[in-house]
Amino acid sequence: MIRFDLPLIFLVPYLFLLGAVIGSFLNVCIYRLPNSERLSEQIRGLWSPPSHCPRCGRRLLRRDNLPVLGWLLLRGRCRFCKTRISPRYPLIEAANGLLFIIMFFAEVPTGWNATLRDSCLFTPLGPQGDPASTLFSPIMVAFLRWAYHMVLVESLVVASFIDLDLRIIPDGATLPAMAAGVLGGLVFGCVYIVPVWYQDVGVLEEISSLLGGRFASLLSSKPVPGWITLHPHLHGLAVSVAGLVVGGGTVWMVRIIGEWVLKREAMGFGDVILMATGTEVGLCIEAYEKLTAEGVKARVVSMPSWEIFERQDTAYKQSVLPSSVTARVSVEMAATFGWERYVGLKGQKVGMHRFGASAPLKDLLKFFGFTVEAVVAAARKAITEK
Ligand SMILES: [Zn+2]
Repeated sequence: MIRFDLPLIFLVPYLFLLGAVIGSFLNVCIYRLPNSERLSEQIRGLWSPPSHCPRCGRRLLRRDNLPVLGWLLLRGRCRFCKTRISPRYPLIEAANGLLFIIMFFAEVPTGWNATLRDSCLFTPLGPQGDPASTLFSPIMVAFLRWAYHMVLVESLVVASFIDLDLRIIPDGATLPAMAAGVLGGLVFGCVYIVPVWYQDVGVLEEISSLLGGRFASLLSSKPVPGWITLHPHLHGLAVSVAGLVVGGGTVWMVRIIGEWVLKREAMGFGDVILMATGTEVGLCIEAYEKLTAEGVKARVVSMPSWEIFERQDTAYKQSVLPSSVTARVSVEMAATFGWERYVGLKGQKVGMHRFGASAPLKDLLKFFGFTVEAVVAAARKAITEK
Protein backbone atom coordinates (compact mmCIF):
# COMPACT_ATOMS: atom_id res chain seq x y z
CA MET A 1 0.00 0.00 0.00
CA ILE A 2 1.26 3.47 -0.90
CA ARG A 3 0.35 6.43 1.24
CA PHE A 4 -0.40 9.81 -0.25
CA ASP A 5 0.20 11.73 2.90
CA LEU A 6 1.70 15.10 2.01
CA PRO A 7 0.38 17.60 4.58
CA LEU A 8 -2.25 19.80 2.93
CA ILE A 9 -0.84 22.93 4.55
CA PHE A 10 2.24 22.59 2.32
CA LEU A 11 0.57 21.01 -0.67
CA VAL A 12 -2.20 23.56 -1.34
CA PRO A 13 -0.05 26.73 -1.33
CA TYR A 14 2.62 24.95 -3.36
CA LEU A 15 0.09 23.91 -6.03
CA PHE A 16 -1.38 27.43 -6.15
CA LEU A 17 2.05 29.00 -6.56
CA LEU A 18 3.02 26.54 -9.29
CA GLY A 19 -0.25 27.18 -11.14
CA ALA A 20 0.11 30.97 -10.81
CA VAL A 21 3.71 30.93 -12.13
CA ILE A 22 2.64 28.81 -15.09
CA GLY A 23 -0.41 31.10 -15.43
CA SER A 24 1.89 34.05 -16.02
CA PHE A 25 3.52 32.05 -18.83
CA LEU A 26 0.00 31.36 -20.21
CA ASN A 27 -0.54 35.14 -20.30
CA VAL A 28 2.57 35.46 -22.46
CA CYS A 29 1.24 32.70 -24.76
CA ILE A 30 -2.21 34.34 -25.00
CA TYR A 31 -0.79 37.72 -25.99
CA ARG A 32 2.11 36.62 -28.17
CA LEU A 33 1.10 33.47 -30.06
CA PRO A 34 -1.29 35.39 -32.38
CA ASN A 35 1.47 37.86 -33.32
CA SER A 36 2.97 35.62 -36.00
CA GLU A 37 1.55 33.39 -38.67
CA ARG A 38 4.12 30.60 -38.64
CA LEU A 39 4.38 28.05 -35.85
CA SER A 40 8.17 28.43 -35.47
CA GLU A 41 7.87 32.22 -35.19
CA GLN A 42 5.01 31.85 -32.71
CA ILE A 43 7.14 29.65 -30.45
CA ARG A 44 10.23 31.86 -30.80
CA GLY A 45 8.12 34.93 -30.00
CA LEU A 46 7.33 33.49 -26.57
CA TRP A 47 10.94 33.89 -25.36
CA SER A 48 11.94 37.21 -26.83
CA PRO A 49 11.68 40.11 -26.32
CA PRO A 50 11.59 40.12 -22.49
CA SER A 51 8.37 41.30 -20.80
CA HIS A 52 7.82 44.97 -21.41
CA CYS A 53 5.07 47.57 -21.20
CA PRO A 54 3.17 47.61 -24.51
CA ARG A 55 2.79 51.39 -24.27
CA CYS A 56 6.16 52.79 -23.22
CA GLY A 57 8.18 49.70 -24.17
CA ARG A 58 10.24 49.71 -20.97
CA ARG A 59 11.30 46.41 -19.50
CA LEU A 60 9.46 45.15 -16.45
CA LEU A 61 11.46 44.74 -13.25
CA ARG A 62 11.82 41.21 -11.99
CA ARG A 63 9.46 41.83 -9.06
CA ASP A 64 6.78 43.21 -11.42
CA ASN A 65 6.68 39.77 -13.03
CA LEU A 66 5.65 38.04 -9.79
CA PRO A 67 2.33 36.34 -10.51
CA VAL A 68 -0.72 38.14 -9.01
CA LEU A 69 1.45 40.03 -6.46
CA GLY A 70 3.33 42.00 -9.15
CA TRP A 71 0.09 43.48 -10.45
CA LEU A 72 -1.22 44.20 -6.93
CA LEU A 73 2.00 45.95 -5.87
CA LEU A 74 1.88 48.13 -9.00
CA ARG A 75 -1.83 48.77 -8.32
CA GLY A 76 -2.59 47.76 -11.89
CA ARG A 77 -0.47 50.42 -13.56
CA CYS A 78 2.85 50.48 -15.44
CA ARG A 79 5.71 51.50 -13.12
CA PHE A 80 7.00 54.03 -15.68
CA CYS A 81 4.19 55.44 -17.79
CA LYS A 82 1.30 54.61 -15.42
CA THR A 83 -0.73 52.97 -18.19
CA ARG A 84 -3.45 50.74 -16.81
CA ILE A 85 -2.54 47.02 -16.92
CA SER A 86 -5.52 44.77 -17.51
CA PRO A 87 -6.70 42.89 -14.37
CA ARG A 88 -7.02 39.87 -16.64
CA TYR A 89 -3.31 39.12 -16.12
CA PRO A 90 -3.52 38.53 -12.35
CA LEU A 91 -6.98 36.94 -12.71
CA ILE A 92 -5.68 34.32 -15.16
CA GLU A 93 -2.71 33.65 -12.86
CA ALA A 94 -4.93 33.22 -9.80
CA ALA A 95 -7.52 31.14 -11.69
CA ASN A 96 -4.72 28.90 -12.98
CA GLY A 97 -3.45 28.42 -9.42
CA LEU A 98 -6.96 27.24 -8.46
CA LEU A 99 -7.13 25.02 -11.54
CA PHE A 100 -3.90 23.30 -10.46
CA ILE A 101 -5.38 22.60 -7.02
CA ILE A 102 -8.72 21.34 -8.38
CA MET A 103 -7.13 19.07 -10.98
CA PHE A 104 -4.67 17.74 -8.41
CA PHE A 105 -7.38 16.77 -5.94
CA ALA A 106 -9.47 15.25 -8.73
CA GLU A 107 -6.62 13.04 -9.94
CA VAL A 108 -4.15 12.42 -7.14
CA PRO A 109 -5.53 10.79 -4.00
CA THR A 110 -4.57 12.69 -0.87
CA GLY A 111 -4.92 12.10 2.84
CA TRP A 112 -3.67 9.43 5.23
CA ASN A 113 -3.46 5.94 3.80
CA ALA A 114 -5.05 6.98 0.52
CA THR A 115 -4.39 4.64 -2.38
CA LEU A 116 -4.76 4.91 -6.15
CA ARG A 117 -8.24 3.48 -5.65
CA ASP A 118 -9.32 6.68 -3.90
CA SER A 119 -8.61 8.74 -7.03
CA CYS A 120 -11.62 10.05 -8.98
CA LEU A 121 -10.04 8.62 -12.12
CA PHE A 122 -9.60 5.11 -10.75
CA THR A 123 -10.81 2.27 -12.92
CA PRO A 124 -9.77 -1.37 -12.54
CA LEU A 125 -9.01 -1.36 -16.28
CA GLY A 126 -6.48 1.46 -16.09
CA PRO A 127 -2.78 1.18 -15.20
CA GLN A 128 -2.36 0.38 -11.51
CA GLY A 129 1.31 1.16 -11.18
CA ASP A 130 3.89 -1.30 -9.90
CA PRO A 131 4.67 -0.91 -6.16
CA ALA A 132 8.12 -2.43 -6.81
CA SER A 133 9.02 0.15 -9.48
CA THR A 134 10.28 3.60 -8.52
CA LEU A 135 9.40 5.32 -11.80
CA PHE A 136 5.96 3.76 -12.25
CA SER A 137 4.85 3.21 -8.67
CA PRO A 138 1.12 3.86 -8.04
CA ILE A 139 1.86 7.33 -6.66
CA MET A 140 4.02 8.18 -9.69
CA VAL A 141 1.30 6.99 -12.09
CA ALA A 142 -1.15 9.36 -10.38
CA PHE A 143 1.35 12.25 -10.47
CA LEU A 144 2.40 11.65 -14.08
CA ARG A 145 -1.22 11.47 -15.22
CA TRP A 146 -2.00 14.73 -13.45
CA ALA A 147 1.04 16.47 -14.98
CA TYR A 148 0.20 15.03 -18.42
CA HIS A 149 -3.39 16.25 -18.21
CA MET A 150 -2.26 19.68 -17.01
CA VAL A 151 -0.15 20.14 -20.17
CA LEU A 152 -3.22 19.41 -22.32
CA VAL A 153 -5.63 21.48 -20.18
CA GLU A 154 -3.27 24.48 -20.15
CA SER A 155 -3.12 24.52 -23.93
CA LEU A 156 -6.94 24.55 -23.95
CA VAL A 157 -6.85 27.58 -21.62
CA VAL A 158 -4.51 29.42 -24.01
CA ALA A 159 -6.55 28.46 -27.10
CA SER A 160 -9.82 29.52 -25.39
CA PHE A 161 -8.60 33.00 -24.44
CA ILE A 162 -7.09 33.67 -27.87
CA ASP A 163 -10.30 32.45 -29.48
CA LEU A 164 -12.31 34.72 -27.17
CA ASP A 165 -10.15 37.75 -28.05
CA LEU A 166 -9.55 37.30 -31.76
CA ARG A 167 -11.75 34.43 -33.00
CA ILE A 168 -8.70 32.50 -34.13
CA ILE A 169 -6.74 29.59 -32.67
CA PRO A 170 -3.11 29.78 -33.76
CA ASP A 171 -1.14 26.58 -34.39
CA GLY A 172 1.10 27.43 -31.43
CA ALA A 173 -1.86 26.83 -29.10
CA THR A 174 -2.70 23.39 -30.53
CA LEU A 175 0.17 21.62 -32.31
CA PRO A 176 2.69 21.54 -29.40
CA ALA A 177 -0.01 20.07 -27.13
CA MET A 178 -0.85 17.43 -29.76
CA ALA A 179 2.83 16.48 -29.94
CA ALA A 180 3.10 16.44 -26.13
CA GLY A 181 -0.03 14.28 -25.94
CA VAL A 182 1.29 11.61 -28.29
CA LEU A 183 4.91 11.72 -27.05
CA GLY A 184 3.88 11.65 -23.38
CA GLY A 185 1.62 8.67 -24.05
CA LEU A 186 4.50 6.82 -25.75
CA VAL A 187 7.20 7.67 -23.20
CA PHE A 188 5.21 7.00 -20.01
CA GLY A 189 2.88 4.33 -21.35
CA CYS A 190 0.76 4.61 -18.20
CA VAL A 191 -0.91 8.02 -18.30
CA TYR A 192 -4.14 6.85 -19.87
CA ILE A 193 -7.31 6.20 -17.85
CA VAL A 194 -8.76 3.19 -19.68
CA PRO A 195 -7.07 0.94 -22.23
CA VAL A 196 -7.78 1.62 -25.89
CA TRP A 197 -9.37 -1.82 -26.22
CA TYR A 198 -11.14 -3.59 -23.39
CA GLN A 199 -14.16 -5.69 -22.60
CA ASP A 200 -16.51 -5.00 -19.73
CA VAL A 201 -17.15 -8.49 -18.35
CA GLY A 202 -20.50 -7.47 -16.82
CA VAL A 203 -21.86 -6.19 -20.14
CA LEU A 204 -20.59 -9.28 -21.97
CA GLU A 205 -22.28 -11.62 -19.46
CA GLU A 206 -25.57 -9.80 -19.91
CA ILE A 207 -25.42 -9.94 -23.71
CA SER A 208 -24.42 -13.58 -23.55
CA SER A 209 -27.38 -14.47 -21.30
CA LEU A 210 -29.78 -12.49 -23.53
CA LEU A 211 -28.56 -14.44 -26.53
CA GLY A 212 -29.03 -17.73 -24.68
CA GLY A 213 -25.40 -18.62 -24.22
CA ARG A 214 -24.25 -18.09 -27.77
CA PHE A 215 -20.99 -16.10 -28.01
CA ALA A 216 -20.05 -17.48 -24.58
CA SER A 217 -16.59 -17.94 -26.04
CA LEU A 218 -16.12 -14.14 -25.89
CA LEU A 219 -16.32 -14.35 -22.12
CA SER A 220 -13.34 -16.60 -21.81
CA SER A 221 -11.00 -14.06 -23.45
CA LYS A 222 -9.19 -11.61 -21.20
CA PRO A 223 -10.79 -8.16 -20.71
CA VAL A 224 -7.46 -6.53 -21.55
CA PRO A 225 -5.40 -8.17 -24.31
CA GLY A 226 -1.95 -9.44 -23.46
CA TRP A 227 -0.02 -7.01 -25.67
CA ILE A 228 -1.28 -4.12 -23.56
CA THR A 229 0.40 -5.47 -20.44
CA LEU A 230 3.44 -6.65 -22.42
CA HIS A 231 4.10 -3.39 -24.28
CA PRO A 232 2.77 -0.51 -22.15
CA HIS A 233 4.61 2.12 -24.21
CA LEU A 234 3.20 0.98 -27.53
CA HIS A 235 -0.19 0.88 -25.91
CA GLY A 236 0.31 4.41 -24.54
CA LEU A 237 1.05 5.51 -28.11
CA ALA A 238 -2.08 3.73 -29.40
CA VAL A 239 -4.28 5.39 -26.74
CA SER A 240 -3.00 8.89 -27.47
CA VAL A 241 -3.21 8.50 -31.26
CA ALA A 242 -6.76 7.15 -30.86
CA GLY A 243 -7.62 10.20 -28.75
CA LEU A 244 -6.12 12.52 -31.36
CA VAL A 245 -8.07 10.87 -34.19
CA VAL A 246 -11.36 10.86 -32.26
CA GLY A 247 -10.93 14.41 -30.88
CA GLY A 248 -9.58 15.98 -34.06
CA GLY A 249 -11.92 13.87 -36.19
CA THR A 250 -14.94 15.21 -34.30
CA VAL A 251 -13.97 18.78 -35.18
CA TRP A 252 -13.53 17.89 -38.83
CA MET A 253 -16.85 16.00 -38.81
CA VAL A 254 -18.59 19.11 -37.43
CA ARG A 255 -16.98 21.10 -40.20
CA ILE A 256 -17.96 18.65 -42.94
CA ILE A 257 -21.54 18.15 -41.67
CA GLY A 258 -21.89 21.92 -41.06
CA GLU A 259 -20.73 22.63 -44.59
CA TRP A 260 -23.22 20.14 -45.95
CA VAL A 261 -26.13 21.49 -43.88
CA LEU A 262 -25.35 25.20 -44.23
CA LYS A 263 -24.17 24.85 -47.85
CA ARG A 264 -21.09 26.88 -46.98
CA GLU A 265 -17.87 26.68 -45.05
CA ALA A 266 -18.89 26.11 -41.42
CA MET A 267 -15.70 26.71 -39.41
CA GLY A 268 -14.97 30.23 -40.55
CA PHE A 269 -12.35 29.39 -43.17
CA GLY A 270 -14.60 30.78 -45.89
CA ASP A 271 -14.82 34.33 -44.61
CA VAL A 272 -13.85 37.13 -46.94
CA ILE A 273 -12.71 40.64 -46.08
CA LEU A 274 -13.58 43.55 -48.37
CA MET A 275 -11.33 46.57 -47.83
CA ALA A 276 -11.67 50.02 -49.26
CA THR A 277 -11.02 53.69 -48.69
CA GLY A 278 -13.56 56.50 -48.91
CA THR A 279 -16.41 56.23 -51.42
CA GLU A 280 -15.49 52.69 -52.43
CA VAL A 281 -16.57 51.54 -48.96
CA GLY A 282 -20.16 52.04 -50.16
CA LEU A 283 -19.52 49.66 -53.04
CA CYS A 284 -18.12 47.12 -50.60
CA ILE A 285 -21.17 47.41 -48.36
CA GLU A 286 -23.46 46.68 -51.31
CA ALA A 287 -21.29 43.70 -52.23
CA TYR A 288 -21.34 42.64 -48.56
CA GLU A 289 -25.16 42.61 -48.57
CA LYS A 290 -25.23 40.51 -51.71
CA LEU A 291 -22.67 38.05 -50.35
CA THR A 292 -24.45 37.77 -46.99
CA ALA A 293 -27.72 37.02 -48.78
CA GLU A 294 -25.88 34.15 -50.46
CA GLY A 295 -24.69 32.89 -47.09
CA VAL A 296 -21.08 34.05 -47.40
CA LYS A 297 -19.63 35.47 -44.21
CA ALA A 298 -18.08 38.76 -45.28
CA ARG A 299 -16.79 41.79 -43.47
CA VAL A 300 -16.11 45.28 -44.74
CA VAL A 301 -13.05 47.13 -43.50
CA SER A 302 -12.78 50.83 -44.12
CA MET A 303 -9.13 51.72 -44.20
CA PRO A 304 -8.71 55.48 -44.60
CA SER A 305 -5.04 55.41 -43.57
CA TRP A 306 -2.51 52.60 -43.87
CA GLU A 307 -0.06 54.58 -41.76
CA ILE A 308 -2.36 54.92 -38.76
CA PHE A 309 -3.33 51.25 -39.07
CA GLU A 310 0.35 50.24 -39.04
CA ARG A 311 0.88 52.11 -35.77
CA GLN A 312 -1.76 50.01 -33.93
CA ASP A 313 -0.84 47.00 -31.81
CA THR A 314 -1.07 43.44 -33.11
CA ALA A 315 -4.21 42.59 -31.17
CA TYR A 316 -6.05 45.47 -32.81
CA LYS A 317 -4.72 44.65 -36.28
CA GLN A 318 -5.72 41.03 -35.77
CA SER A 319 -9.22 42.03 -34.69
CA VAL A 320 -9.66 44.06 -37.89
CA LEU A 321 -7.81 41.77 -40.29
CA PRO A 322 -7.66 38.29 -38.66
CA SER A 323 -4.75 36.36 -40.15
CA SER A 324 -7.01 33.30 -40.40
CA VAL A 325 -9.00 35.03 -43.15
CA THR A 326 -6.88 34.91 -46.27
CA ALA A 327 -9.67 35.62 -48.76
CA ARG A 328 -9.37 39.39 -49.13
CA VAL A 329 -10.42 41.96 -51.68
CA SER A 330 -9.32 45.57 -51.94
CA VAL A 331 -11.32 48.17 -53.85
CA GLU A 332 -9.86 51.55 -54.75
CA MET A 333 -10.36 53.81 -57.74
CA ALA A 334 -6.64 54.23 -58.12
CA ALA A 335 -3.65 52.06 -58.81
CA THR A 336 -3.79 48.76 -56.95
CA PHE A 337 -0.17 49.21 -55.84
CA GLY A 338 0.36 48.82 -52.10
CA TRP A 339 -2.75 46.83 -51.29
CA GLU A 340 -0.92 43.47 -51.56
CA ARG A 341 0.40 44.23 -48.08
CA TYR A 342 -3.13 43.74 -46.75
CA VAL A 343 -4.83 41.43 -49.24
CA GLY A 344 -1.84 39.08 -49.41
CA LEU A 345 -0.36 37.55 -52.54
CA LYS A 346 -3.52 35.61 -53.32
CA GLY A 347 -5.93 38.44 -52.57
CA GLN A 348 -7.96 40.21 -55.24
CA LYS A 349 -7.44 43.88 -56.03
CA VAL A 350 -10.16 45.82 -57.78
CA GLY A 351 -8.60 49.02 -59.08
CA MET A 352 -7.20 50.84 -62.09
CA HIS A 353 -4.61 49.04 -64.08
CA ARG A 354 -4.32 51.81 -66.66
CA PHE A 355 -4.86 55.49 -66.91
CA GLY A 356 -6.62 57.81 -69.28
CA ALA A 357 -10.00 56.80 -70.50
CA SER A 358 -12.74 59.34 -70.90
CA ALA A 359 -16.44 58.67 -70.91
CA PRO A 360 -19.39 59.48 -68.63
CA LEU A 361 -18.51 58.56 -65.03
CA LYS A 362 -21.04 55.73 -64.81
CA ASP A 363 -19.60 53.99 -67.89
CA LEU A 364 -16.08 54.58 -66.68
CA LEU A 365 -16.83 52.93 -63.33
CA LYS A 366 -18.25 49.95 -65.16
CA PHE A 367 -15.30 49.87 -67.55
CA PHE A 368 -12.78 49.72 -64.72
CA GLY A 369 -14.81 47.12 -62.83
CA PHE A 370 -16.16 49.33 -60.07
CA THR A 371 -19.52 47.61 -59.88
CA VAL A 372 -21.09 45.60 -57.08
CA GLU A 373 -21.06 42.55 -59.38
CA ALA A 374 -17.33 42.92 -59.98
CA VAL A 375 -16.60 43.16 -56.25
CA VAL A 376 -18.81 40.13 -55.53
CA ALA A 377 -17.03 38.20 -58.30
CA ALA A 378 -13.63 39.19 -56.88
CA ALA A 379 -14.77 38.04 -53.43
CA ARG A 380 -15.85 34.65 -54.81
CA LYS A 381 -12.54 34.33 -56.61
CA ALA A 382 -10.66 35.19 -53.42
CA ILE A 383 -12.59 32.52 -51.48
CA THR A 384 -12.00 29.76 -54.03
CA GLU A 385 -8.37 30.64 -54.74
CA LYS A 386 -7.07 31.16 -51.23
ZN1 LIG B 1 4.64 51.74 -19.56
